Order: sequence, then structure tokens, then C-alpha cells
Amino acid sequence: MEYKTQMEAARKGILTAQMKKVALKEAYEPEELRKLVACGKVAIPCNIRHKCLSPNGIGSMLKTKINVNLGISRDCRDLDAEYEKVEAAVAMGAESIMDLSNFGRTRDFRTKLIKECPAIIGTVPVYDAVVYYHKALKEITAREWLDAARMHAEDGVDFMTIHCGLNRSLAQRFKENRRLTNIVSRGGSMLFAWMEMTGNENPFYEYYDELLAICREYDVTLSLGDACRPGCIADATDAVQVEELITLGKLTKRAWEKDVQVIIEGPGHMPLDQIEANMKLQQSVCHGAPFYVLGPLVTDVAPGYDHITAAIGGAMAAASGAAFLCYVTPAEHLRLPDLNDMKEGIIASRIAAHAADIAKGVKGAADWDHEMSLARKNLDWDGMFRLCIDPDKAKAYRASSRPEKEDTCTMCGNMCALKNMNRILDGETVSIFDE
Ligand code: SF4
Repeated sequence: MEYKTQMEAARKGILTAQMKKVALKEAYEPEELRKLVACGKVAIPCNIRHKCLSPNGIGSMLKTKINVNLGISRDCRDLDAEYEKVEAAVAMGAESIMDLSNFGRTRDFRTKLIKECPAIIGTVPVYDAVVYYHKALKEITAREWLDAARMHAEDGVDFMTIHCGLNRSLAQRFKENRRLTNIVSRGGSMLFAWMEMTGNENPFYEYYDELLAICREYDVTLSLGDACRPGCIADATDAVQVEELITLGKLTKRAWEKDVQVIIEGPGHMPLDQIEANMKLQQSVCHGAPFYVLGPLVTDVAPGYDHITAAIGGAMAAASGAAFLCYVTPAEHLRLPDLNDMKEGIIASRIAAHAADIAKGVKGAADWDHEMSLARKNLDWDGMFRLCIDPDKAKAYRASSRPEKEDTCTMCGNMCALKNMNRILDGETVSIFDE
């Protein structure tokens, strides 16, 4: 092959099959898309071994994509139940699945995903290393950390989240600038603990070139993890978060020099008024690399409703330049999400993504709303259900309260403004009282 990665192909002027498919999905000129991949503003995560992948592009000018976190854990280790969630998530429109498995037969689950799932597959190899080597954290060697990343790349993972920016200098900065909730990133906290216990540098920072060689070989997109993302409103946009972002910007350039595609992870918990500035800062410091946000959650006080706090932040973030939203479920901070939690999280995240796409003027985004409004104006209930983001829920609501007049609903009945306006403009009489 004349190229190793999508970025290399794009830079050589080659339009790959994946670029053509993404261009078609996004209603983009393929050549225009190729240029965006070449300069790193769009990533197309697609490991050469993930043969059943339906590729998608991630970039702020494209449709906002959503990711669903799943995976087996010590407390919920049923592989089949978790795979059922994967299939439901894809059917509900998730473009990406992150397999965060951290107990038991993690490789079996990952291999099944790569073999059968058409969504983009992401992982965090640091979690898996502890399971795979089956030994205490501090006994894992730098070589073994890197080998875990290699194993995931060989297995066909499309993007890997690796916390390369948490180096010893940042760890020192963190200790000097204590935060209310410290480090809340699971992978970040593990690497911090490993660095503290061994006295070593973060192996993914120290041997970054080796990591890039692995990513290049299989065209794994590097998701530069934000180990120091704020875990509460009080810690948002502090020195530690910003210093890590600056390091990620430098690492982005080094990855691009090797034609390795990059996305950057972002906050976290963040007050609404800081989100836009954070998105602009990321785009500037990380040279326009696509931003992948985990929320942001705009308040800390709503456990049970964090799909809403995250959707508020996600819509604001995506409208201000973020390209990729990690879903949050109502179970966030409380337990592993079940199927219903997952559904609530996906719908909330899709609403946030779509709201942002309308605001950004993403091609075709507002057409969907236009069609819905037309159906609503015409009291075309079947049309409305067909266009709903969640038709089942909408149908259930209507079925639970039937109106006397079939074309209206029980909210206004005879006073249905839509119906009465249609009639009066058609020259009919509107009485309301005795109809
Ligand atoms: S009855 Fe009221 S709420 Fe229901 S469709 Fe008509 S205008 Fe809308």
C-alpha cells in the first residue's frame, strides 16, 4: 500500500475508500474532506484490521458524533448482556463505542467488537493492562504498558485513549496546586499512582515515539487523554488542566509529523460560562485537532440527571467547536448504566449534538427540524412519529392520553392553535365553543 494512515494518504493526495464514504455521509466534496484529513482537522479512526467498520469523520465542521462507553467490569461481567447494549447503542445512532472493560475476559469482548461491530471502537489500554498482566499496579513495567497498547492496536481498535500528557512535571504542578477533587480520570489516576510508586516518568510520554510507531502501523487514532480534566465545577480551567492541554498541543504536532491522526479529550465538569472559552483555547493550543468532550457537566449537584447536565454542556461545547461528545447517562457517578440508562444517555447526547449542528450550520442539520415542523403544522401524527428522535417515547405519551378530536392532542383540544390557524387561513369558520 502507498500509505500507512488516512492522514498520510490525504497528504499524498490519495482519496481513500474511507474518505469517499465519509464525504458521502456528510454531503462533502471528497477533495475538500481530504484536505481536512491532511491538516488534522478531521480524523477518520479506522484501524486497518477493523474490516466491518462503517467509517465516520470527526471534525468540528462535520456532523457532531457521539460515543457510548460500555464494557464488562468486576460487578457486571456478563459478556452477552454487554454486547446486547452495544447492538442497541449502534441501532440508536451511536457512531462510536468505547470498550472500557476492566475485568475478566476483556480480550474476548474486544475481539468480538472488532469482528462484528460497525461503529468506531475505542479503548483505554491502561485499564486492560492491569487485567491482562494480573499483577499489582506498581509491578507493571514501562515495557508492559506499551505492549498493552500494541495488543489493542493489533486487535483492531480504531482509537486509543492514552494519557500521554500527564508527565512528571505536570504531576509536580498538580501536587503544588491541590484541587477539590484531585484527578478524576480513571486512567490518569492509575498512571499518577504508578509514577508516584515507581518514581518513573509516564511511559507513554517517555516513549511517545514508540507509541506513535504502533499507531502508525495500524492507523490507530491517538485520543490524547485529559488525565487532569476537572472533576468538579471548582476545579474547572485551573493551572493543571491548562498545562496538560499545552502539552497535548505539543504531542499533537509530534503525532502529525508521523501522520498519526489525533483527537484531544476535554472536560469534565465546567460552568456554562467557561465552556466556549475552553473550546476556543483547545482549538488554538492544539492546532485545530478535533475535540472530544466528556460532558462537560455544567453542575455537580444532579446525580440521577447527569445526562441532562452533560447535554447542556455538550450542546454548548459542540456549538463552540467540539466535534465528538461522550455520552453521559443518568447513572453517572452512581453505578454502571443498564440498558435503559444507556438509552436515556444516547438520546440526551444526540439532542445535544443535533442542537449544536443546527447552530453551527452543519450541512442538512436544520432540514430535519424543517420536516418535523411541517408535519406538526399539518397535524400529521404519523409523520411526527417518523421524524422523532425517540418515536417510541413520543407514541407512548400520545397513547396514554387520547384526545376527543383525533387530529389534536389533550393539551388544547378544540383550542388547538395549529388546527384553528389552518382552518381560518383556508376560509373555514372557527367556533371552538360548540365543535
Ligand atoms: S392541541 Fe395544542 S399542543 Fe396539541 S397539537 Fe394542537 S396546538 Fe399543539
